[in-house]
Amino acid sequence: MSHRPNRLYLSSDALVANWRALARLSGTAACGAAVKADGYGLGARAVVERLLGAGCRDLFVASWAEAEGVADLALAAGASLAVLHGLRDADLPALARLPGVRPVLSTAAQLVRWRGVAAGRACDVMIDTGMNRLGIGRAEIAAGMLDGVAIDTVMSHLACADEPDHAMNEAQRAAFAALTGRTSARRMSLANSAGIALGAGYHFDLTRPGLALYGGVPAPGLAGAICPVATIAAEVLQRRVVRAGDTVGYNATWRAEVDTPVAIVNLGYADGYRRALSDRGCAFAGDAPLPVIGRVSMDLLALDATAAAVREGDWVRFDDDLVHVAAASGVSQYELLTGLGQRFERHWS
Ligand SMILES: *Cc1c(COP(=O)(O)O)cnc(C)c1O
Repeated sequence: MSHRPNRLYLSSDALVANWRALARLSGTAACGAAVKADGYGLGARAVVERLLGAGCRDLFVASWAEAEGVADLALAAGASLAVLHGLRDADLPALARLPGVRPVLSTAAQLVRWRGVAAGRACDVMIDTGMNRLGIGRAEIAAGMLDGVAIDTVMSHLACADEPDHAMNEAQRAAFAALTGRTSARRMSLANSAGIALGAGYHFDLTRPGLALYGGVPAPGLAGAICPVATIAAEVLQRRVVRAGDTVGYNATWRAEVDTPVAIVNLGYADGYRRALSDRGCAFAGDAPLPVIGRVSMDLLALDATAAAVREGDWVRFDDDLVHVAAASGVSQYELLTGLGQRFERHWS
């Protein structure tokens, strides 16, 4: 596989440093890790191995299929693995295969299903405190829905943590805090990455960062604490000089004002390099910036190579600052990471 024309360089040190920084910022709370969506596109098994090595002991995936992908690693390390989307009928065979994995139950029907197959065993429970996504309502708890249920971790999820001044943060925190002592839960957990930056009142017993582990900065309070983990690099397939007045790429959206050296690079939207970065993205040869010009194609894009004499066979790396790239493209940092394609040769260092 060493001949692939584009690569994703992944830094173990950066991933571990980000987790340690988030653990520190979580104060006395334990710091877990959301490794859903294939570790936010970086590769769940590789991510889990490194986070377990760093001391992380609480992992979250979305589905039982994702749990099956990493359960052996988690359970061998004595770590807890929770499935955020609960327990459907179709998940019962997976639950039977993975008795050490906990569902995060979020509906009355799931609680009934759990009692039927695992009565007495501890589950996790998601409470809705205002996001109106997954979770049991506070009225249902008051009506006794959780009575007699053995709960390891009760959690809720913040809708607006990336807007530190949004009034909903404090409303959700207060609603969640009001559940203290009202369930059998051993632990309470509220904060995602951005929630950690909201302060100690949001940390409870366990935090659940995802994005920031992988180099995303969802809140100003995390800038400076987080470093990039993934860097795209790709090979130059052709260098040409585009004559003044000529155009580059589909729909001829870029026109040369002067004769311009252009590098055609083996990277496109099928690799997850978003078409929204047409005329907006940036690569580098050393420190020299090479702006993306014209439309990003499926498998190729063009760079203005005025700043560096890159040639056929040279490799360039792309801007790995997710805040920049999200601002340039209008695509969220989450989508940039989880959209990373399967064609990269992945190099962990
Ligand atoms: C995805 C997710 C997280 C992690 O969120 P980030 O914003 O990526 O830190 C935490 N908790 C729940 C319930 C999630 O779905």
